[in-house]
Amino acid sequence: MGLFVSREGSDQVHRRKGTLGTRFFGLRLVAHYFLVEKSRKAKDLRSFMPKLSIKDLNLSGQRVLVRVDFNVPIKDGKVEDDTRIRASLPTIEYALEHGAKVILASHLGRPKGQRVDKYSLKPVADHLSTLLKRPVLFADDCVDDEAEAMASKLALGEVLLLENLRFHPEEEKNDDGFAKKLARPCDVFVNDAFGAAHRAHASTVGVTKYVSKAAAGLLMEKELEYLGKCINHPEHPFVAILGGAKVSDKIPVINALIDRGVDKILIGGAMAYTFLKAEGFTVGKSLVEDNMLSTALAIKKRAEENDIDFLLPTDHQVVDSYEPIKGQQIVAKTIPIEFTNIGLVGLDIGIETVGHFSKALADARMIIWNGPMGVFEEPPFDQGTIGVAHAVAEAADRGAIVVVGGGDSVAAIAKAGVADRITHISTGGGATLEFLAGEELPGVAALTDKD
Ligand code: ATP
Repeated sequence: MGLFVSREGSDQVHRRKGTLGTRFFGLRLVAHYFLVEKSRKAKDLRSFMPKLSIKDLNLSGQRVLVRVDFNVPIKDGKVEDDTRIRASLPTIEYALEHGAKVILASHLGRPKGQRVDKYSLKPVADHLSTLLKRPVLFADDCVDDEAEAMASKLALGEVLLLENLRFHPEEEKNDDGFAKKLARPCDVFVNDAFGAAHRAHASTVGVTKYVSKAAAGLLMEKELEYLGKCINHPEHPFVAILGGAKVSDKIPVINALIDRGVDKILIGGAMAYTFLKAEGFTVGKSLVEDNMLSTALAIKKRAEENDIDFLLPTDHQVVDSYEPIKGQQIVAKTIPIEFTNIGLVGLDIGIETVGHFSKALADARMIIWNGPMGVFEEPPFDQGTIGVAHAVAEAADRGAIVVVGGGDSVAAIAKAGVADRITHISTGGGATLEFLAGEELPGVAALTDKD
């Protein structure tokens, strides 16, 4: 098995200012523009109420229910990646140091309301016990009598992990009775599961009705602080790097970033092809959302009207076809965007684009990055993402605030070995995107307001 990367025509750089496709989409674009403006004004009126923090609670002797995000990959009964578990340690340790009895609740995977052994949190309890260097009790169910008895009998400094919340269909339905049972043995509630805060579930919203106080955990606070800074008080130059599979997932975020005064937007990944095709470039068989072409043009137009630098790839790594990629000898080549023939598939940004993007990051004071620059899972199509990971790490070394969100971008940061240089790695996927788009997250809204 081997991979060969060649480069053709790298000197054929094009500058992308004029758009070939604009005139074809004029009318739809105007209509879309007014819709975007309307939603922007609605969001401007929304304010974020400060919420109680775990640091505001008197935890001494209290039974504290902590909603954590232990949705981690498990293989052969072992935790494969413990990033999310480690991210919750500061809150758990804080609660223990302040005299709390800690009851942890989480979901894992999508068991669809039934008990499914492979989604049991038992391996997480064992792993957490190693990380905390103390025993972690485990309840085989999250709301049965035994779980309640175990929670009620907890001694000071003890930790109990409840079984997967999603083994009960009532969790995702935000069922009141289920929320009440969950809260019954607990005095206060702390939500540290930012990644689940965009869902109104019993353990994120319903439960808050049945405790005296509901506060944000330390991880939740950190997420709200950094992501909040990106949308409310960005430092300039402020650069957004967006990639991943779909434009449609990221439109609200791009619009919100434009509203919040972003200075540069760099687009990579498959979503770049929708913008490129909308401009009239041939993108071969690259992934495109054809129903998003006019929207893509409208976004680019808005960015230009707001004097935002909008950078699309100038070159990319291509292959002859999508299949087969895995386990085969792949001949990938890097070509300028305008050389894409009908049959080719673009799977990563090229080295020249990495250079342009890195240059655009050189003076950044704040950077937000969501979504990989290519099919990062399959080398050599990880090169663009890893190149950008190094560029953002260098910006952070120079003092820029760098926030990275989205599972794949976070994995890329780890793969590039630069995770510890990034200012804040967001643990949320959908929650991060919704927050950045200016949406109110139900799990945050349900927390107790600060006086
Ligand atoms: P997550 O959903 O895990 O939070 P994310 O927000 O970082 O991830 P997504 O929008 O979900 O990113 O997109 C990631 C997916 O996009 C990856 O599986 C990657 O392989 C795919 N992708 C990136 N570039 C391309 C491309 N050029 N062609 C096809 N797929 C691509």
